[in-house]
Amino acid sequence: MSAFARLRYRFVRDALLPAALAFKGGRRKSRPPDPLFGPPLKSTADLRRIMARHYALARHAKGAMPVAWVTSGAPVELLRAFGFYTVYPENHSALCGARKLGPEISAEAEARGYSQDLCSYARVDLGHAFSGRTPVGSLPAPDLLFCTNNICQTVLYWFKALSREHGIPLILLDTPYLHGGRDEAPAFAYVEGQLRRAVTELERFARKDFDEKRFLQVLESSRRASQLWGGVLETLRRRPAPMTIFDAFVHLMPIVSLRGLPVCERYYEGLLAELQDRVERGVAAVPGERHRLLWDNIAIWFALGPLARLFAEHGAVPVVATYTHAWAETAHQMDLQDPFGALARTYGGIFLNRDLAHRRAFLETLAREYTVDGAVLHSARSCKPYSIGQYDLKQSLMDIPGIPSVVLEADMTDHRVWSEAQARTRLEAFFEALEGQTIRNSSGPVNA
Ligand code: SF4
Repeated sequence: MSAFARLRYRFVRDALLPAALAFKGGRRKSRPPDPLFGPPLKSTADLRRIMARHYALARHAKGAMPVAWVTSGAPVELLRAFGFYTVYPENHSALCGARKLGPEISAEAEARGYSQDLCSYARVDLGHAFSGRTPVGSLPAPDLLFCTNNICQTVLYWFKALSREHGIPLILLDTPYLHGGRDEAPAFAYVEGQLRRAVTELERFARKDFDEKRFLQVLESSRRASQLWGGVLETLRRRPAPMTIFDAFVHLMPIVSLRGLPVCERYYEGLLAELQDRVERGVAAVPGERHRLLWDNIAIWFALGPLARLFAEHGAVPVVATYTHAWAETAHQMDLQDPFGALARTYGGIFLNRDLAHRRAFLETLAREYTVDGAVLHSARSCKPYSIGQYDLKQSLMDIPGIPSVVLEADMTDHRVWSEAQARTRLEAFFEALEGQTIRNSSGPVNA
Protein backbone atom coordinates (compact mmCIF):
# COMPACT_ATOMS: atom_id res chain seq x y z
CA MET A 1 0.00 0.00 0.00
CA SER A 2 1.44 3.41 -0.86
CA ALA A 3 0.99 6.82 0.77
CA PHE A 4 0.44 8.38 -2.67
CA ALA A 5 -2.39 5.94 -3.48
CA ARG A 6 -4.01 6.71 -0.12
CA LEU A 7 -3.82 10.45 -0.74
CA ARG A 8 -5.26 10.04 -4.24
CA TYR A 9 -8.08 7.87 -2.86
CA ARG A 10 -9.01 10.50 -0.25
CA PHE A 11 -8.93 13.29 -2.81
CA VAL A 12 -11.22 11.33 -5.15
CA ARG A 13 -13.56 10.35 -2.29
CA ASP A 14 -13.82 13.76 -0.62
CA ALA A 15 -13.48 16.25 -3.48
CA LEU A 16 -13.60 14.87 -7.00
CA LEU A 17 -16.43 12.36 -6.75
CA PRO A 18 -18.94 14.50 -4.80
CA ALA A 19 -18.53 17.25 -7.41
CA ALA A 20 -18.73 14.84 -10.37
CA LEU A 21 -21.81 13.05 -9.02
CA ALA A 22 -23.60 16.30 -8.19
CA PHE A 23 -22.93 17.53 -11.74
CA LYS A 24 -24.16 14.27 -13.27
CA GLY A 25 -27.23 14.17 -11.03
CA GLY A 26 -28.13 17.73 -11.98
CA ARG A 27 -28.03 16.86 -15.68
CA ARG A 28 -30.22 13.74 -15.41
CA LYS A 29 -33.64 14.34 -16.93
CA SER A 30 -36.62 13.03 -14.99
CA ARG A 31 -38.86 10.63 -16.89
CA PRO A 32 -42.39 11.68 -17.81
CA PRO A 33 -45.04 10.08 -15.55
CA ASP A 34 -46.20 6.63 -16.64
CA PRO A 35 -49.91 5.97 -15.95
CA LEU A 36 -49.19 2.26 -15.33
CA PHE A 37 -47.11 3.08 -12.26
CA GLY A 38 -47.29 5.34 -9.22
CA PRO A 39 -44.80 8.20 -8.85
CA PRO A 40 -41.18 7.03 -9.06
CA LEU A 41 -39.30 6.61 -5.78
CA LYS A 42 -37.20 9.66 -4.94
CA SER A 43 -34.62 7.41 -3.23
CA THR A 44 -33.67 5.97 -6.62
CA ALA A 45 -31.53 9.07 -7.27
CA ASP A 46 -29.63 8.39 -4.01
CA LEU A 47 -29.25 4.75 -4.96
CA ARG A 48 -27.71 5.64 -8.32
CA ARG A 49 -25.36 8.06 -6.63
CA ILE A 50 -24.09 5.70 -3.92
CA MET A 51 -23.64 2.78 -6.30
CA ALA A 52 -21.87 4.97 -8.87
CA ARG A 53 -19.66 6.23 -6.03
CA HIS A 54 -18.96 2.66 -4.89
CA TYR A 55 -17.78 1.52 -8.33
CA ALA A 56 -15.90 4.77 -9.06
CA LEU A 57 -14.08 4.66 -5.70
CA ALA A 58 -13.23 1.00 -6.26
CA ARG A 59 -11.05 2.04 -9.19
CA HIS A 60 -8.94 4.20 -6.88
CA ALA A 61 -8.84 1.76 -3.96
CA LYS A 62 -6.08 -0.36 -5.46
CA GLY A 63 -2.84 0.41 -3.69
CA ALA A 64 -4.57 2.60 -1.10
CA MET A 65 -6.03 -0.31 0.83
CA PRO A 66 -6.30 -4.06 0.36
CA VAL A 67 -9.03 -5.05 -2.11
CA ALA A 68 -11.07 -8.23 -1.61
CA TRP A 69 -13.55 -9.85 -3.94
CA VAL A 70 -16.28 -11.42 -1.87
CA THR A 71 -19.30 -13.71 -2.37
CA SER A 72 -22.71 -12.23 -1.51
CA GLY A 73 -23.18 -14.52 1.49
CA ALA A 74 -19.74 -13.97 3.03
CA PRO A 75 -19.30 -12.40 6.49
CA VAL A 76 -17.87 -9.19 5.11
CA GLU A 77 -17.86 -7.67 8.61
CA LEU A 78 -14.51 -9.37 9.28
CA LEU A 79 -12.92 -7.76 6.23
CA ARG A 80 -14.32 -4.33 7.03
CA ALA A 81 -12.72 -4.52 10.47
CA PHE A 82 -9.37 -4.78 8.65
CA GLY A 83 -10.15 -1.90 6.25
CA PHE A 84 -10.57 -3.89 3.00
CA TYR A 85 -12.34 -2.37 0.00
CA THR A 86 -14.81 -5.06 -1.03
CA VAL A 87 -16.18 -5.84 -4.48
CA TYR A 88 -18.99 -8.33 -5.10
CA PRO A 89 -18.64 -10.16 -8.42
CA GLU A 90 -22.26 -11.37 -8.20
CA ASN A 91 -23.49 -7.79 -7.94
CA HIS A 92 -21.29 -6.77 -10.85
CA SER A 93 -22.59 -9.70 -12.93
CA ALA A 94 -26.19 -8.67 -12.14
CA LEU A 95 -25.34 -5.16 -13.33
CA CYS A 96 -23.88 -6.58 -16.57
CA GLY A 97 -27.08 -8.62 -16.96
CA ALA A 98 -29.29 -5.57 -16.43
CA ARG A 99 -27.31 -3.79 -19.18
CA LYS A 100 -27.90 -6.84 -21.44
CA LEU A 101 -24.18 -7.58 -21.61
CA GLY A 102 -24.36 -11.04 -20.00
CA PRO A 103 -23.89 -13.22 -23.11
CA GLU A 104 -21.25 -10.92 -24.58
CA ILE A 105 -19.01 -10.96 -21.50
CA SER A 106 -19.62 -14.58 -20.58
CA ALA A 107 -18.61 -15.54 -24.15
CA GLU A 108 -15.05 -14.63 -23.07
CA ALA A 109 -15.23 -17.40 -20.45
CA GLU A 110 -17.04 -19.83 -22.78
CA ALA A 111 -14.23 -19.37 -25.33
CA ARG A 112 -11.88 -20.76 -22.65
CA GLY A 113 -13.97 -23.86 -22.13
CA TYR A 114 -16.42 -22.81 -19.41
CA SER A 115 -19.75 -24.46 -20.18
CA GLN A 116 -22.87 -22.45 -20.93
CA ASP A 117 -24.53 -24.54 -18.23
CA LEU A 118 -22.33 -22.99 -15.57
CA CYS A 119 -23.85 -20.24 -13.38
CA SER A 120 -24.06 -17.15 -15.57
CA TYR A 121 -22.91 -14.92 -12.71
CA ALA A 122 -19.71 -16.96 -12.64
CA ARG A 123 -19.36 -16.92 -16.43
CA VAL A 124 -19.81 -13.14 -16.61
CA ASP A 125 -17.32 -12.62 -13.80
CA LEU A 126 -14.74 -14.98 -15.28
CA GLY A 127 -15.32 -13.37 -18.69
CA HIS A 128 -14.57 -10.03 -17.06
CA ALA A 129 -11.47 -11.45 -15.32
CA PHE A 130 -10.13 -12.77 -18.66
CA SER A 131 -11.00 -9.71 -20.78
CA GLY A 132 -11.45 -6.74 -18.43
CA ARG A 133 -14.82 -6.02 -20.07
CA THR A 134 -17.29 -4.24 -17.82
CA PRO A 135 -19.85 -1.46 -18.12
CA VAL A 136 -18.44 0.28 -15.00
CA GLY A 137 -15.13 1.40 -16.47
CA SER A 138 -12.95 -1.07 -14.62
CA LEU A 139 -12.85 -3.07 -11.41
CA PRO A 140 -9.78 -3.14 -9.17
CA ALA A 141 -7.93 -6.45 -9.37
CA PRO A 142 -8.35 -8.27 -6.06
CA ASP A 143 -5.55 -8.78 -3.53
CA LEU A 144 -7.56 -11.44 -1.71
CA LEU A 145 -10.61 -13.62 -2.37
CA PHE A 146 -13.13 -14.39 0.36
CA CYS A 147 -15.74 -17.03 -0.33
CA THR A 148 -18.52 -18.75 1.61
CA ASN A 149 -20.29 -21.76 0.15
CA ASN A 150 -23.57 -21.07 1.99
CA ILE A 151 -25.30 -20.17 -1.29
CA CYS A 152 -23.89 -22.98 -3.43
CA GLN A 153 -20.76 -24.99 -4.23
CA THR A 154 -20.32 -23.22 -7.56
CA VAL A 155 -18.80 -20.21 -5.81
CA LEU A 156 -16.00 -22.40 -4.47
CA TYR A 157 -14.86 -23.55 -7.94
CA TRP A 158 -15.48 -20.09 -9.39
CA PHE A 159 -13.31 -18.41 -6.72
CA LYS A 160 -10.64 -21.11 -7.09
CA ALA A 161 -10.48 -20.22 -10.80
CA LEU A 162 -10.14 -16.52 -9.88
CA SER A 163 -7.42 -17.40 -7.38
CA ARG A 164 -5.49 -19.19 -10.14
CA GLU A 165 -6.07 -16.39 -12.65
CA HIS A 166 -4.89 -13.62 -10.32
CA GLY A 167 -2.34 -15.73 -8.41
CA ILE A 168 -3.71 -14.60 -5.03
CA PRO A 169 -4.91 -16.33 -1.85
CA LEU A 170 -8.47 -17.48 -1.26
CA ILE A 171 -10.02 -17.71 2.20
CA LEU A 172 -12.92 -20.16 2.26
CA LEU A 173 -15.59 -20.38 4.91
CA ASP A 174 -17.23 -23.79 4.68
CA THR A 175 -20.85 -23.83 5.92
CA PRO A 176 -22.37 -27.31 6.29
CA TYR A 177 -25.77 -27.79 4.67
CA LEU A 178 -28.48 -27.85 7.33
CA HIS A 179 -31.02 -30.66 7.31
CA GLY A 180 -34.16 -30.15 9.39
CA GLY A 181 -34.53 -32.16 12.58
CA ARG A 182 -30.80 -32.34 13.30
CA ASP A 183 -28.95 -30.47 16.02
CA GLU A 184 -27.44 -27.41 14.30
CA ALA A 185 -25.06 -26.45 17.13
CA PRO A 186 -22.10 -28.59 15.88
CA ALA A 187 -22.38 -27.06 12.39
CA PHE A 188 -22.37 -23.53 13.78
CA ALA A 189 -19.46 -24.35 16.12
CA TYR A 190 -17.50 -25.61 13.09
CA VAL A 191 -18.23 -22.34 11.20
CA GLU A 192 -17.30 -20.27 14.26
CA GLY A 193 -13.93 -22.07 14.49
CA GLN A 194 -13.21 -21.17 10.87
CA LEU A 195 -14.16 -17.53 11.47
CA ARG A 196 -11.64 -17.32 14.31
CA ARG A 197 -8.95 -18.89 12.11
CA ALA A 198 -9.85 -16.45 9.31
CA VAL A 199 -9.02 -13.59 11.70
CA THR A 200 -5.50 -14.98 12.12
CA GLU A 201 -5.12 -15.32 8.34
CA LEU A 202 -6.40 -11.78 7.79
CA GLU A 203 -4.00 -10.42 10.42
CA ARG A 204 -1.14 -12.05 8.56
CA PHE A 205 -2.39 -10.82 5.18
CA ALA A 206 -3.20 -7.22 6.22
CA ARG A 207 -0.18 -7.05 8.54
CA LYS A 208 -2.19 -5.55 11.34
CA ASP A 209 -3.88 -6.72 14.53
CA PHE A 210 -7.56 -7.46 14.66
CA ASP A 211 -9.43 -4.41 15.98
CA GLU A 212 -12.28 -5.90 17.98
CA LYS A 213 -13.86 -2.53 18.75
CA ARG A 214 -14.02 -1.70 15.03
CA PHE A 215 -15.39 -5.19 14.32
CA LEU A 216 -18.26 -4.66 16.79
CA GLN A 217 -19.07 -1.28 15.25
CA VAL A 218 -19.22 -2.85 11.80
CA LEU A 219 -21.37 -5.70 13.09
CA GLU A 220 -23.79 -3.26 14.70
CA SER A 221 -23.99 -1.27 11.47
CA SER A 222 -24.59 -4.45 9.49
CA ARG A 223 -27.32 -5.59 11.90
CA ARG A 224 -29.04 -2.22 11.72
CA ALA A 225 -28.89 -2.11 7.90
CA SER A 226 -30.39 -5.63 7.70
CA GLN A 227 -33.17 -4.61 10.08
CA LEU A 228 -33.87 -1.47 8.06
CA TRP A 229 -33.93 -3.56 4.89
CA GLY A 230 -36.39 -5.92 6.63
CA GLY A 231 -38.50 -2.83 7.51
CA VAL A 232 -38.41 -1.72 3.87
CA LEU A 233 -39.71 -5.12 2.75
CA GLU A 234 -42.40 -5.12 5.44
CA THR A 235 -44.00 -1.99 3.98
CA LEU A 236 -44.99 -4.21 1.03
CA ARG A 237 -47.41 -6.04 3.31
CA ARG A 238 -49.69 -3.03 3.03
CA ARG A 239 -52.36 -2.66 0.37
CA PRO A 240 -51.65 -1.01 -1.97
CA ALA A 241 -47.96 -1.90 -1.88
CA PRO A 242 -45.82 1.27 -1.96
CA MET A 243 -43.24 -0.39 -4.24
CA THR A 244 -42.97 -3.73 -6.04
CA ILE A 245 -40.44 -6.52 -5.74
CA PHE A 246 -39.07 -5.42 -9.11
CA ASP A 247 -38.16 -2.13 -7.38
CA ALA A 248 -36.81 -4.05 -4.37
CA PHE A 249 -34.48 -6.07 -6.63
CA VAL A 250 -32.81 -2.80 -7.59
CA HIS A 251 -32.85 -1.25 -4.10
CA LEU A 252 -31.24 -4.43 -2.77
CA MET A 253 -27.80 -3.41 -4.07
CA PRO A 254 -26.54 -1.54 -0.98
CA ILE A 255 -27.41 -4.34 1.46
CA VAL A 256 -25.44 -6.76 -0.71
CA SER A 257 -22.45 -4.53 -1.47
CA LEU A 258 -22.24 -1.95 1.30
CA ARG A 259 -23.55 -3.56 4.49
CA GLY A 260 -21.46 -2.73 7.52
CA LEU A 261 -20.83 0.81 6.20
CA PRO A 262 -22.70 3.91 7.46
CA VAL A 263 -23.75 4.84 3.91
CA CYS A 264 -25.82 1.65 3.76
CA GLU A 265 -27.71 2.46 6.98
CA ARG A 266 -28.35 6.04 5.87
CA TYR A 267 -29.65 4.87 2.52
CA TYR A 268 -32.19 2.48 4.04
CA GLU A 269 -33.30 5.02 6.65
CA GLY A 270 -34.22 7.32 3.76
CA LEU A 271 -35.89 4.61 1.69
CA LEU A 272 -37.89 3.33 4.67
CA ALA A 273 -39.09 6.84 5.54
CA GLU A 274 -40.16 7.40 1.94
CA LEU A 275 -42.07 4.13 1.81
CA GLN A 276 -43.76 4.71 5.17
CA ASP A 277 -44.88 8.09 3.90
CA ARG A 278 -46.30 6.45 0.77
CA VAL A 279 -48.14 3.91 2.91
CA GLU A 280 -49.67 6.68 5.03
CA ARG A 281 -50.80 8.58 1.94
CA GLY A 282 -52.02 5.43 0.19
CA VAL A 283 -49.61 5.89 -2.76
CA ALA A 284 -49.61 2.70 -4.85
CA ALA A 285 -46.64 1.41 -6.82
CA VAL A 286 -49.21 0.06 -9.29
CA PRO A 287 -52.51 1.97 -9.20
CA GLY A 288 -55.42 -0.50 -9.28
CA GLU A 289 -53.47 -3.30 -7.55
CA ARG A 290 -55.51 -6.50 -8.05
CA HIS A 291 -53.26 -9.52 -7.58
CA ARG A 292 -50.49 -9.76 -5.01
CA LEU A 293 -47.75 -12.20 -5.94
CA LEU A 294 -44.77 -13.98 -4.46
CA TRP A 295 -41.59 -14.23 -6.55
CA ASP A 296 -39.18 -17.10 -6.03
CA ASN A 297 -35.51 -16.96 -7.08
CA ILE A 298 -33.15 -14.30 -8.39
CA ALA A 299 -34.35 -11.48 -10.67
CA ILE A 300 -34.32 -11.80 -14.45
CA TRP A 301 -32.10 -8.76 -14.67
CA PHE A 302 -32.25 -8.18 -18.41
CA ALA A 303 -36.08 -8.26 -18.47
CA LEU A 304 -36.97 -6.33 -15.31
CA GLY A 305 -38.50 -3.37 -17.19
CA PRO A 306 -40.68 -5.37 -19.64
CA LEU A 307 -41.80 -7.73 -16.85
CA ALA A 308 -42.72 -4.82 -14.56
CA ARG A 309 -44.88 -3.39 -17.37
CA LEU A 310 -46.52 -6.70 -18.19
CA PHE A 311 -47.39 -7.34 -14.53
CA ALA A 312 -48.67 -3.78 -14.06
CA GLU A 313 -50.88 -4.02 -17.17
CA HIS A 314 -52.73 -6.84 -15.38
CA GLY A 315 -52.80 -5.17 -11.94
CA ALA A 316 -50.38 -7.88 -10.75
CA VAL A 317 -47.93 -6.73 -8.10
CA PRO A 318 -45.09 -8.93 -6.85
CA VAL A 319 -44.94 -7.96 -3.17
CA VAL A 320 -42.52 -10.48 -1.70
CA ALA A 321 -39.56 -12.58 -2.83
CA THR A 322 -37.41 -15.22 -1.20
CA TYR A 323 -34.33 -13.59 -2.76
CA THR A 324 -34.81 -10.10 -1.29
CA HIS A 325 -35.60 -11.60 2.12
CA ALA A 326 -32.26 -13.42 2.21
CA TRP A 327 -30.55 -10.26 3.55
CA ALA A 328 -33.18 -9.62 6.21
CA GLU A 329 -34.21 -13.05 7.49
CA THR A 330 -31.22 -13.63 9.78
CA ALA A 331 -30.69 -10.05 11.06
CA HIS A 332 -32.07 -11.05 14.47
CA GLN A 333 -29.12 -13.45 14.89
CA MET A 334 -26.57 -10.61 15.08
CA ASP A 335 -25.92 -10.76 18.82
CA LEU A 336 -23.10 -8.37 19.73
CA GLN A 337 -22.49 -10.23 23.00
CA ASP A 338 -21.40 -13.28 21.02
CA PRO A 339 -20.09 -11.81 17.75
CA PHE A 340 -18.40 -14.89 16.28
CA GLY A 341 -21.27 -17.21 17.20
CA ALA A 342 -23.66 -14.61 15.78
CA LEU A 343 -21.78 -14.46 12.47
CA ALA A 344 -21.74 -18.26 12.27
CA ARG A 345 -25.51 -18.47 12.79
CA THR A 346 -26.28 -15.49 10.55
CA TYR A 347 -24.30 -16.71 7.57
CA GLY A 348 -24.53 -20.45 8.17
CA GLY A 349 -28.30 -20.45 8.60
CA ILE A 350 -29.56 -18.67 5.48
CA PHE A 351 -32.42 -20.40 3.70
CA LEU A 352 -30.34 -21.40 0.65
CA ASN A 353 -28.19 -23.46 2.99
CA ARG A 354 -31.20 -25.38 4.29
CA ASP A 355 -33.28 -28.25 2.95
CA LEU A 356 -36.39 -28.10 0.77
CA ALA A 357 -38.76 -28.59 3.72
CA HIS A 358 -37.42 -25.39 5.28
CA ARG A 359 -37.75 -23.58 1.98
CA ARG A 360 -41.34 -24.76 1.58
CA ALA A 361 -42.19 -23.52 5.10
CA PHE A 362 -40.42 -20.20 4.37
CA LEU A 363 -42.43 -19.74 1.17
CA GLU A 364 -45.68 -20.50 2.96
CA THR A 365 -44.88 -18.03 5.75
CA LEU A 366 -44.07 -15.28 3.26
CA ALA A 367 -47.21 -16.07 1.25
CA ARG A 368 -49.34 -15.75 4.39
CA GLU A 369 -47.65 -12.65 5.79
CA TYR A 370 -47.85 -10.75 2.51
CA THR A 371 -51.36 -12.06 1.68
CA VAL A 372 -50.46 -13.19 -1.82
CA ASP A 373 -52.90 -14.63 -4.37
CA GLY A 374 -50.31 -16.42 -6.48
CA ALA A 375 -46.64 -17.12 -7.02
CA VAL A 376 -44.17 -16.78 -9.91
CA LEU A 377 -41.28 -19.22 -9.67
CA HIS A 378 -38.34 -18.15 -11.79
CA SER A 379 -36.54 -21.30 -12.87
CA ALA A 380 -33.09 -19.87 -13.51
CA ARG A 381 -31.43 -22.12 -16.05
CA SER A 382 -27.91 -21.65 -14.77
CA CYS A 383 -28.62 -21.37 -11.03
CA LYS A 384 -29.35 -24.96 -10.17
CA PRO A 385 -29.22 -24.74 -6.36
CA TYR A 386 -31.97 -22.14 -6.31
CA SER A 387 -34.09 -23.68 -9.06
CA ILE A 388 -34.01 -27.31 -8.05
CA GLY A 389 -37.21 -28.55 -6.42
CA GLN A 390 -39.36 -25.71 -7.75
CA TYR A 391 -41.94 -28.04 -9.31
CA ASP A 392 -42.35 -29.67 -5.87
CA LEU A 393 -42.69 -26.22 -4.32
CA LYS A 394 -45.30 -25.31 -6.93
CA GLN A 395 -47.32 -28.37 -5.95
CA SER A 396 -46.94 -27.63 -2.22
CA LEU A 397 -48.12 -24.06 -2.65
CA MET A 398 -51.17 -25.32 -4.51
CA ASP A 399 -51.89 -28.16 -2.08
CA ILE A 400 -51.43 -26.43 1.21
CA PRO A 401 -52.49 -22.80 1.14
CA GLY A 402 -54.25 -23.05 -2.27
CA ILE A 403 -51.93 -20.59 -4.02
CA PRO A 404 -51.67 -21.02 -7.80
CA SER A 405 -48.26 -20.52 -9.31
CA VAL A 406 -46.48 -20.41 -12.62
CA VAL A 407 -42.91 -21.40 -13.48
CA LEU A 408 -41.01 -19.00 -15.69
CA GLU A 409 -38.01 -20.44 -17.54
CA ALA A 410 -35.25 -17.85 -17.76
CA ASP A 411 -31.86 -16.93 -16.33
CA MET A 412 -30.34 -14.15 -14.23
CA THR A 413 -28.13 -12.61 -16.90
CA ASP A 414 -28.08 -14.82 -20.00
CA HIS A 415 -30.89 -13.68 -22.31
CA ARG A 416 -30.00 -16.35 -24.90
CA VAL A 417 -32.26 -18.74 -22.98
CA TRP A 418 -35.17 -16.30 -22.74
CA SER A 419 -38.16 -15.98 -24.99
CA GLU A 420 -40.17 -12.89 -24.16
CA ALA A 421 -43.08 -14.05 -26.34
CA GLN A 422 -43.26 -17.41 -24.54
CA ALA A 423 -43.05 -15.78 -21.11
CA ARG A 424 -45.77 -13.32 -22.07
CA THR A 425 -48.10 -16.12 -23.19
CA ARG A 426 -47.51 -18.08 -20.01
CA LEU A 427 -47.92 -15.09 -17.71
CA GLU A 428 -51.03 -13.81 -19.47
CA ALA A 429 -52.68 -17.22 -19.05
CA PHE A 430 -51.69 -17.17 -15.37
CA PHE A 431 -53.06 -13.65 -14.84
CA GLU A 432 -56.29 -14.70 -16.55
CA ALA A 433 -56.63 -17.63 -14.14
CA LEU A 434 -55.97 -15.29 -11.20
CA GLU A 435 -58.64 -12.94 -12.52
CA GLY A 436 -61.11 -15.83 -12.69
CA GLN A 437 -60.25 -16.73 -9.11
CA THR A 438 -60.73 -13.11 -7.98
CA ILE A 439 -64.19 -13.00 -9.57
CA ARG A 440 -65.16 -16.34 -8.00
CA ASN A 441 -63.80 -15.12 -4.62
CA SER A 442 -65.96 -12.03 -4.75
CA SER A 443 -69.10 -14.10 -5.44
CA GLY A 444 -68.54 -16.95 -3.00
CA PRO A 445 -65.99 -19.43 -1.65
CA VAL A 446 -63.46 -20.73 -4.18
CA ASN A 447 -61.46 -23.28 -2.30
CA ALA A 448 -64.46 -24.96 -0.73
S1 SF4 B 1 -25.25 -20.90 -8.91
FE1 SF4 B 1 -26.92 -19.59 -8.17
S2 SF4 B 1 -26.53 -19.37 -5.96
FE2 SF4 B 1 -24.61 -20.06 -6.93
S3 SF4 B 1 -23.48 -18.18 -7.40
FE3 SF4 B 1 -24.65 -18.74 -9.22
S4 SF4 B 1 -26.53 -17.55 -9.02
FE4 SF4 B 1 -25.59 -17.58 -7.00
